[in-house]
Amino acid sequence: MPTEPEPIRCCVDVFDAPPPTRVAERMALMKDETWGSGFKLRVRFLEGEKAVQDKVKKVALQWMDHANINMVFVKDGDAEVRVAFRPGGSWSEVGKRSKKIEQAKPSMNFGWLTPVTADDEYQRVVLHEFGHALGCIHEHQHPAGGIHWNKQKVYDYYKRTNGWDPPRVDTNIFQAYSADLIKGTGQADPKSIMMYPIPAALTEDGFTVGWNRELSLTDKKFIKTLYPF
Ligand SMILES: [Zn+2]
Repeated sequence: MPTEPEPIRCCVDVFDAPPPTRVAERMALMKDETWGSGFKLRVRFLEGEKAVQDKVKKVALQWMDHANINMVFVKDGDAEVRVAFRPGGSWSEVGKRSKKIEQAKPSMNFGWLTPVTADDEYQRVVLHEFGHALGCIHEHQHPAGGIHWNKQKVYDYYKRTNGWDPPRVDTNIFQAYSADLIKGTGQADPKSIMMYPIPAALTEDGFTVGWNRELSLTDKKFIKTLYPF
């Protein structure tokens, strides 16, 4: 069972908007937010120490082993992905949605990475956020569902660890994506880098997900179908 850090450092869904706008927003973005095979994806750091930037870059590039995407880190000029390191949450826009944001503003944020953060944590968070940048969504909100949540415990847990109120939990945890709006594998993959850690205490049947720190076999296969070589 995963240990529980305070606060739980999971990626926050950036599509927070009051309902019902939220649903419409999602529908638009889920149609196809991937960049296309071979796309030159420019990434620019808006700030941050060189040591941190170097670590982020090294991990992010791992996606290129499995996806035909030409990720290029640029020093200036326009970039599809703009990375900030502002205290708070970690999050990223999903795929092409980053184009709708002004160039001066971040499309991705790492809220807690420092030069002394463990490499394991870089692996976990950077792979996850760059997964969003390539168009991936949260695996625990897979349309096939299949996670038997103990809802009250989940509400209590995220209130305690992250200060989230129930609507925020609904958005980030329970709300599943509609199957016809996304491309996906047939069922949720517990080993996916896009999966939140799930303590067994939060599910009715003891289902649990650890702190995934690498791309799962399914992640690798799936991203290849989105960005074929
Ligand atoms: Zn995320």
